Amino acid sequence: MRIAVIGAGMAGLSCATALSRADRTGADLEIRVFDKGRGPGGRMATRRIATPLGEACFDMGAQYFTVRSPDFAEEVSRWVSAGQVAPWPAAGPEAWVGTPSMTAPLKDMAAPLDIAWNSFVAGLSRDAEGWRLHLKDGDVPGFDAVVIALPAEQATPFLALTDPAFFQRNVLSQTSPCWTGLYAFAAPLSVSADVFRKQGIISWAARNSAKPGRAPLETWVVQADHDWSRAHLEEPPESVAAALLSSLLALTGDPGREALVQSAHRWRFALSTPLGLDGLWNPEIGLGVCGDWLLAPRVESAWLSGAALARRMGAQPFTRPARGGEALSPALTSR
Ligand SMILES: Cc1cc2nc3c(=O)[nH]c(=O)nc-3n(C[C@H](O)[C@H](O)[C@H](O)COP(=O)(O)OP(=O)(O)OC[C@H]3O[C@@H](n4cnc5c(N)ncnc54)[C@H](O)[C@@H]3O)c2cc1C
Repeated sequence: MRIAVIGAGMAGLSCATALSRADRTGADLEIRVFDKGRGPGGRMATRRIATPLGEACFDMGAQYFTVRSPDFAEEVSRWVSAGQVAPWPAAGPEAWVGTPSMTAPLKDMAAPLDIAWNSFVAGLSRDAEGWRLHLKDGDVPGFDAVVIALPAEQATPFLALTDPAFFQRNVLSQTSPCWTGLYAFAAPLSVSADVFRKQGIISWAARNSAKPGRAPLETWVVQADHDWSRAHLEEPPESVAAALLSSLLALTGDPGREALVQSAHRWRFALSTPLGLDGLWNPEIGLGVCGDWLLAPRVESAWLSGAALARRMGAQPFTRPARGGEALSPALTSR
């Protein structure tokens, strides 16, 4: 059984990992993952920026994660043993971070999988050979099942023409944007606190360099609140980076301080509205859907969603898709 997973964020990697474990216990699956990015990250991405004092490294998406379910706790304990994650008490008693960056557990999950990076999937159709993925550089045909592991809005075009029931649920989820400022400084800012929450236009500001396993160069990550992010969504990154820097320095009591480097990242799709589902599986056509938006806007939810989908795929036997040759989805545009 050939399965394509579109999206190598936490949900897609969780699903692919669970499927490949099933393969090792005799399920006979061939799993191929496709992601438009250059490497593991998604909304847990890390950004590196050169500074006159060396390279600065920033967690520019998820800042930490929490662990509530026993299944996820078991996976996290594996990451702890492998040195991929550590607690970060500054963010709360239940907060964990990847070490040396948030992408560490994703890299660990990605390593044994067959992943095609730099592979933007622009469309999906079915023909006599099964599901066919349309990539910029050509088609990849012959999949018996496809898993869509994308943020809600990016999943919409795929679901609109493949599964009306999944599409109806998908359109109920809306993902808020988040402007994120990244700053490195030649010397520490004045405050001793490493974390601030909800101060003016800032929803979160943290000394990134205070997380376990980070380089000592003083770095900060600042997230604007959703209303401000939405209102300023189309502004140039330079002016957003300047606005968030002055809010940060007002907060820390360092007005006038200059950053060694500053940058802003526009997350158009950051935090989803939760639907309280887990994974969606249609065995009639071999179509699965997972992602944080099905459950809740958290790293743990993305992992749980991927794992739940893999369980459903195992529990409900595959029916080979009808081979009608119909095109199900037109080419999509990149977002
Ligand atoms: C700014 C920010 C702060 C956050 N803070 C926290 C936090 O503190 N704690 C917490 O638990 N969670 C936080 N989150 C949420 C958390 O990051 C997400 O819930 C989780 O990472 C979602 O994983 P996912 O796999 O569902 O989606 P994603 O991580 O978005 O993965 C989707 C993948 O699909 C790929 N992709 C998209 N379109 C295509 C295409 N057409 N073809 C191929 N590949 C494609 C992308 O490159 C990406 O790798 C935050 C998110 C953001 C953005």
